[in-house]
Amino acid sequence: MERKGIDIDSLVFETVRLTSGNAPKLYLNGEQVDVWQEPYSNYHSKSPVDYVRERITTLEKEGKDPFPDIVGKETEKELVKEGLFSGSPILLRGERGYGKTTFAKAIGKLLPEKTLTIKECKIYDDPVQPTCFSCKAKLTYQERVELIFTPRIWVRIPGDPMMTTRQLIGGISIQKIREGYDLDHPEVFIPGRALKSNRGVGYFDELGAVPTSLQTLLHELFEENQVTTTEGDILPFKISTIELASTNPANYRGTSPIKEPLLDRMETIEIGPPETLEEEIEIGKRNTYVKKVHDEDPKIPDWHLRILARAVRLGRNQKESEIAKKIQVAPSCRATIKLMDHIKSKAVRNGREVPLFIDYGKDFEIAALALAGRIEVEYGVKESKKEIVNALIEEAIRRTAKEVYDKIPAEYFDGFYSDVFTIASRVNGDKFLSIERSLIENLKQSKATNVAVKAIAGDVDDETYLSAIEILIHSIAVCTPRYAARKDGGYILREMVESEGRMRRVQ
Ligand SMILES: [Zn+2]
Repeated sequence: MERKGIDIDSLVFETVRLTSGNAPKLYLNGEQVDVWQEPYSNYHSKSPVDYVRERITTLEKEGKDPFPDIVGKETEKELVKEGLFSGSPILLRGERGYGKTTFAKAIGKLLPEKTLTIKECKIYDDPVQPTCFSCKAKLTYQERVELIFTPRIWVRIPGDPMMTTRQLIGGISIQKIREGYDLDHPEVFIPGRALKSNRGVGYFDELGAVPTSLQTLLHELFEENQVTTTEGDILPFKISTIELASTNPANYRGTSPIKEPLLDRMETIEIGPPETLEEEIEIGKRNTYVKKVHDEDPKIPDWHLRILARAVRLGRNQKESEIAKKIQVAPSCRATIKLMDHIKSKAVRNGREVPLFIDYGKDFEIAALALAGRIEVEYGVKESKKEIVNALIEEAIRRTAKEVYDKIPAEYFDGFYSDVFTIASRVNGDKFLSIERSLIENLKQSKATNVAVKAIAGDVDDETYLSAIEILIHSIAVCTPRYAARKDGGYILREMVESEGRMRRVQ
């Protein structure tokens, strides 16, 4: 770059503002553009906070949720909107797996999809109000300056105790400029991740894990709009970022590892587990592998979704479950997602799309794969982790089976059971019904069966029909165990005495 006549100090320390009166010729894709006119005028001069405020206002006027990717969490959404509107940095506080990162990403989606920047600027400078000295020099001394549209900026800055100043803030040396280095020379300026979030979102994931000394530098950057170089120079650096951060309360006890001055300038919003079973299921479904990678419905029937999500919630909620009291670290939504993934995968590997109980594993080992690694047992509890996981699954099946049982229409109950009993094969005096495809055609002849299936599942394909038969019989095994018992991928059935079955149910 031509250096003659460049006044280093004014470049570094003074503000450069472009107007249509003092601007050099600005080019975008080789064509000269007037950035103060449509269609460019909306892509510069505004801060990320300005954009987000505008977007929230528009969406709310239209009656739309600004965060459609977040299931439930109405209060948290309201608080996040409030924080964003007042330009406050936001600290999302909550345990692993409850959607802090999803929230941070959803906030990023409120920004326009692209933004106008000075070409080759390392921190995506706004052509009208540049921050880095290289861009200030270009706009001040060059006759033509190239611009480029940069996609929406969302930078995750993972908290790492080993993080260096270079990684976080970057290498900036005014000394090197004075020695005659080119302004674009890497020893003059290489931005760290915090500076890379200029004009977008900077998400400090696990802010507390950022070393204390670097937290001080962050505070200086965001609060005072300046950085201190390793050589001790204090330079203005007016970056414009939506600062988001996360912290996990389980990572420390007592005092917060986030320094007071930083903490003091952020609004803390608690992000807890989903409030309802239905929300837990929705989060699980949206994040299953087949949904995320292939955008396909996972085809897990409602009863299995309820069992899987419920098993996780029973491990979490000490008010609702005795088992939860034996668990120190509770399973998060990741456990729900992975349960759905594993049960679905096992079904596919067993040649079906729709899961059956056999896909949980003979001893629920497939379910345990998702759950066991995601809980910690309370100290002094005598049961093993595997026993606790099995207890969660069994209890979830029991509660879900009861719901199913209550949905069987009373007037068809006996007919359903008797038709199932009839087609079961006789084994050593008892009848045994193996849950397999061959049942479907047979049972579809039974009106009572069709009514019972429809009551819990609606109109369904054959595989879901079979899964519905299984949960219906299982519900009888749970609620009237003297008639049915699970064994080897099927059920042992005993003849129902006319006066007993339905009568007891109606009571
Ligand atoms: Zn720049």
